[in-house]
Amino acid sequence: MDGILALIERATLVDLVVVAAAVVAASAVVAMVARLRRAARRSAADRAEADRLHRWYEAVKASSRDGFVLQSVGGAVLDLNLAACDMLGVDVRGAIGRHINDLELVVVDAHGLPMVPAGVFGVRHTNGSLGRPHDPVLVGLGRVGPEQTAIRAVQVSTSLVPNGDGDAVAVLSLLTDVTTRQQAKAALERSETQFRVAMENAPIGMALVDLGWRLVEVNVAFAELLGTTVDALRGYELLALSHPDERAAESAEVQRLLDGEKHRFSQEKRYLRADGHEVWAVLDVALARSADGAPDHFVVQVRDSTESRLQAEMLTHRAMHDPLTGLANRTLLQEVLQSVIEQPGASGRLAVMACDLDRFKAINDRLGHAAGDEVLVHVAGVLRAAAGGRGTVARLGGDEFVVVLHDLDSARTVVEVAAAVHGGLREPLRLQRKRVAVRASIGIAFADADTLANGAPGLLAAADAALYRAKAAGRGRTEVYDPSMAASGVSTSLHAELTDALTNGQLTLHYQPIVALSDERVMGHEALIRWQHPQRGMLLPDQFLGVAEEAGIGVSLGTWVVTEAVSYLARCQDQTRWVSINASGDQLGDGEFVARVLWEISRMRVAPGRLVVELTESSLIDSGTRVRHELTQLRAAGVPILLDDFGTGISPLSYLRDLPVNGVKLDRSFTSGIPDDPAAAKVARALGSLARDLTMITIAEGIENVEQGDFLYASGWRYGQGWLFGGARPESEL
Ligand code: C2E
Ligand code: CA
Ligand code: CA
Repeated sequence: MDGILALIERATLVDLVVVAAAVVAASAVVAMVARLRRAARRSAADRAEADRLHRWYEAVKASSRDGFVLQSVGGAVLDLNLAACDMLGVDVRGAIGRHINDLELVVVDAHGLPMVPAGVFGVRHTNGSLGRPHDPVLVGLGRVGPEQTAIRAVQVSTSLVPNGDGDAVAVLSLLTDVTTRQQAKAALERSETQFRVAMENAPIGMALVDLGWRLVEVNVAFAELLGTTVDALRGYELLALSHPDERAAESAEVQRLLDGEKHRFSQEKRYLRADGHEVWAVLDVALARSADGAPDHFVVQVRDSTESRLQAEMLTHRAMHDPLTGLANRTLLQEVLQSVIEQPGASGRLAVMACDLDRFKAINDRLGHAAGDEVLVHVAGVLRAAAGGRGTVARLGGDEFVVVLHDLDSARTVVEVAAAVHGGLREPLRLQRKRVAVRASIGIAFADADTLANGAPGLLAAADAALYRAKAAGRGRTEVYDPSMAASGVSTSLHAELTDALTNGQLTLHYQPIVALSDERVMGHEALIRWQHPQRGMLLPDQFLGVAEEAGIGVSLGTWVVTEAVSYLARCQDQTRWVSINASGDQLGDGEFVARVLWEISRMRVAPGRLVVELTESSLIDSGTRVRHELTQLRAAGVPILLDDFGTGISPLSYLRDLPVNGVKLDRSFTSGIPDDPAAAKVARALGSLARDLTMITIAEGIENVEQGDFLYASGWRYGQGWLFGGARPESEL
């Protein structure tokens, strides 16, 4: 019954108009019938006419899709058509003559309550004048009993019509089956409801917007996206919610829809939330048109894209940055550099700083890659702090860093940044409970016509050339590019060349005499390495030792020196002479150096005391316990160890007692201060007496004049070395 209730409730004006038309038509037919009857009585001639009208009447009756029932005022069925029989579930013969109430009909009202059929089909109190339909009612109509039929929604309007007999009247009921129409309407309403429910519950923001771009209806998701409520948004101008920068573009697109240039558009844009925050969203708009094709309203979808945008931004960031340190990568660096160069006047205030860690390979090898990574992160932090927002810091890979400094006031800023890098790195890093000193070499290139001749890559190459000069000159240094570096072509090719030099005999040892200061007698020599480069001439150790260590050939170079020095000793006529060789901390530490020393001296039958190993204090401390172990092995084998560059170290002098060393070599910096610098003289004297107290061999370096030699001898230094007694010479000249 609920179905019919729903149907009945939905009678519309349209229905009423249709019914009214039908009633007028039926009344006319009935009146015609009455006239016909009168006419029949009047003349036989009229009978033919009456027959014709009767046939028409029957034809109208049969063809009408509306039902009609003609009753006497008392309620007896006088006539009815087939359509009425269908709706009432009766047949014509069985119905005519019977009272309407006896037709076993079920008639229900809008609430589903039963009605007396005569009350619906009979004379109603509103039936006034003849021929005019009155009071259409919508009822549910069906049959009970064995021939039960489905309830149909039927509109019934009744009117009084003249009967054939003059003043007597009959009741004409017109029945319009509105079931289908009601169902269609219900279906429409249902789909509207479904749309509304779907919209309300949609996870993305949806809105219906009028042609003036005002919100008519919005859903909860839309309101939530904008941090407000559905009610607050209704009637709101959609444009006002957009980010001010994007309103013009949005309006333009809306206009294009209205102009029929397109049917829909999509834009990613920012909206302003009620709390003032921005939110990124994708706006999809479609224009809905009415049946006649005129624009009617917009259907708008808004999808929060903040997260996907974030992800996209993260991807871009990832593509442009080094994941370990978060610094810019090569791609980003090149982009930044290019854009700075392209700015007018910017190139004069631009510099590039290439920065490379010293002995990073050794750290990686010794402490593992995790420790290496820690060092890189640490260095990244130091570089960032040193640059202090004055430029872009990038890691190009490995331990290669580049800082692009722009908007410079003066060249000094760059030098200051470089100094800040060295300063920041000075503090040793704690790694696996060890203190690791990290140092870096820096090459600086200022942008000018020369360095920019080949654009951004040329400027980077210039900084690289300066960097290699810095590396070659030793660790922890800064060099500024000058055109001579380009000419010398200092570059990575030096790595490859040095590897070759080791095998093809370009390396040699020169020997500098070490004399007894008492009588200048030559006691031994220090072996100093030289590279006879085929194009560049003779290179000094400062120009290539850094490169050797970078290239990871420091150890092979060290063992080469051992073999060379020991074979010199074996060749030497004077079996009392000794040779001291230099070893860096890198060359020790993996056992190969010591093994080679022991092997060569036994193989060539050289007394262990004739080969002396010189080590700097920093290399002793940096390298930790393994180096200590090797030194102990050397000492146990009878190989003396000298502490080189004595006086420049950082540890307290008492520390000296604990080192397995036999002697010290006073650093040249003290010697050169003599006699003018009283402080240098004082320190030289103090160090001399300390070393003597510790029963160390004492050698003073860099003695260039007699005065220095005399002073040092008087200060307790037993041996001396320097140009006064002779420089480093090839073996053939000794
Ligand atoms: P070092 O061990 O302090 O060597 C002394 C340096 O002072 C040598 O420079 C020498 O030529 C220079 N010199 C000697 N007498 C004087 C003087 O009277 N006045 C001045 N101004 N300088 C003097 P060189 O040969 O250029 O060596 C530089 C450094 O290279 C050495 O410093 C040493 O640390 C390192 N080195 C040299 N040969 C080797 C080697 O075979 N292996 C390793 N690992 N390092 C080496
Ligand atoms: Ca030395
Ligand atoms: Ca020295």
